[in-house]
Amino acid sequence: MATKHWQAHLCVLCGYLYEDPPGVFTEAPENQLQWQALPDNWRCPDCGAKKSFFDEIELNIPTEDNEINL
Ligand SMILES: [Zn+2]
Repeated sequence: MATKHWQAHLCVLCGYLYEDPPGVFTEAPENQLQWQALPDNWRCPDCGAKKSFFDEIELNIPTEDNEINL
């Protein structure tokens, strides 16, 4: 079974999830920047927290027939 490496950053203040790549748990534009590519003055779109208020999350998600079962 193949696995998909999935990385996200979670806002510790409001729970906003910034996926990299997007589309696993949340809907996001396909042209969303990678986390590392975001400017230092980027802020959480929900609460305005700085990037330093985000916790990094890494998962390897098993994939089968391009579907993800949670
Ligand atoms: Zn936030």
